[in-house]
Amino acid sequence: MNGVLEVELSGTLDSNDSLDYLPVERKYFPSIPVGNTPLWHPAPEIPENISKKYGFPELYLKDDGVNPTGSLKDRASFLVAAFARKHDINEVVVASTGNAGSSMAGIGAAAGLKVKLFLPKTAPPAKMIQALQYGADLVLADKNYDQAFSLSLEYSNTRGGMNRNTAYNPMTIEGKKTVSIEIFNQLKKAPDHIFVSLGDGVIMSGVYKGFRDLFQLGRIEKIPVVHAVQASGSDSICRAMESGNFNGKQGIPVRSANTVADSICVDTPSNGHLALKNLNKFGGHCFTVTDEEILSAQKKLSSDCGLFSEPAAATAYAGFLKKKATLDSSETCVVLLTGNGLKDINSATNKISVPKNSINSLDEL
Ligand SMILES: *Cc1c(COP(=O)(O)O)cnc(C)c1O
Repeated sequence: MNGVLEVELSGTLDSNDSLDYLPVERKYFPSIPVGNTPLWHPAPEIPENISKKYGFPELYLKDDGVNPTGSLKDRASFLVAAFARKHDINEVVVASTGNAGSSMAGIGAAAGLKVKLFLPKTAPPAKMIQALQYGADLVLADKNYDQAFSLSLEYSNTRGGMNRNTAYNPMTIEGKKTVSIEIFNQLKKAPDHIFVSLGDGVIMSGVYKGFRDLFQLGRIEKIPVVHAVQASGSDSICRAMESGNFNGKQGIPVRSANTVADSICVDTPSNGHLALKNLNKFGGHCFTVTDEEILSAQKKLSSDCGLFSEPAAATAYAGFLKKKATLDSSETCVVLLTGNGLKDINSATNKISVPKNSINSLDEL
């Protein structure tokens, strides 16, 4: 864990198809449509709409909740499945807070792979049910995601199968980088700012990798400023950015994570070192938002724009809301929305009220 896991870009590319940037040949790709997700430009002419309301005419929302299993994780699973097919591997082992697992289960089903999945027993039911529907073999870890991670590694080391764990399998960062290449194609330029939520830090490293590939190929002139947003109850990357080292290391105890945003609830981020390296090298910012800010951002995003995202995704939007006063409003901002709201309906009930009584006639209203 915590190794630097990156694949070097080879050759020269001028393709606009993000799949051409992946290190596995197309003939191994599963036939499930991953990526090419919409980049919303919330209509600036509608007054209640967010770009007008907040005065950011160039605000965009990248909706990765529309991927086949409902999260950005499909980008990684897609490449992992292609890699497995290329190398005649028929079983994939994965630990997850929920989305990586349901994603690998779904993409694995499309690719004809067996999937062994380790989830914390507290994972949202929708994510478990999804994985079981796709036919994954599910094991529940009694404690938390960090425990599921260790159990899955022990399993793949001693019993076989290829491990897909985030920050362990380099194909995960490579697969996730396609989101940046798509954003570049959709905007016809790199944005000035991008807001990304952070758990293990792999999505963010994938975001950087995509922009770095484009930079290295001379297609963009600068790397966007990444705003890495963590939940205040799961903030080890932000803390490490301040202190220069990670919790659990050098005598600092691991603080156990707790947030409503289950997808980013991690005690020790398995890709923390690379995340920190990228943030420091490219001038990224890391900061936290509270659960209250996350849930209210989730509700605002749904009711202002019609985009219902899960709490871990809305975390990035909460980050934008928190930081917007410090930004130049003429600049181009992208908020990366990583997962669909239906993934966790329990936390989505916090800011709404379901009618208590039913009626038989309109007179009862
Ligand atoms: C996995 C996930 C994240 C965080 O990604 P990391 O690579 O762990 O930082 C954020 N949002 C959603 C919806 C996710 O599934």
